[in-house]
Amino acid sequence: MASEKAAALAATPSDGPTIFDKIIKREIPANIVYEDEQVLAFRDIAPQAPIHILIIPKIRDGLTGLSKAEERHCEILGRLLYTAKLVAKQEGLEDGFRIVINDGPTGGQSVYHLHIHLLGGRQMDWPPG
Ligand code: AMP
Repeated sequence: MASEKAAALAATPSDGPTIFDKIIKREIPANIVYEDEQVLAFRDIAPQAPIHILIIPKIRDGLTGLSKAEERHCEILGRLLYTAKLVAKQEGLEDGFRIVINDGPTGGQSVYHLHIHLLGGRQMDWPPG
């Protein structure tokens, strides 16, 4: 989607606050589908599939993107992936789903708080755009 690409190219990689902090603090509304002590999952505001959910760590701890991951992040990274599986099941995606992590301007990242996209409810194409 052209606007997604434009948003990614316009975004400046930064460790400043993002819109996701406001969602975590309930300062702006979001359609939250899963929450525990470490992880929050909510529906993407511009869905690219019938099911499109973002899964984020509640504490960013330097994880503006996957490229900033360090050894200490291994536990939360695993937790995010496991949560994707839980949410996929909760959403009834028994036939499959896709997870995506965009990283950096070339990778199409627009929000610098690590997030996993969980996409499902339609047949996925390969290669992705
Ligand atoms: P990315 O382009 O990989 O950084 O993904 C960021 C995603 O955040 C995009 O798919 C946006 O549609 C989504 N997004 C931005 N603002 C919100 C919001 N307020 N609520 C839900 N999703 C959002």
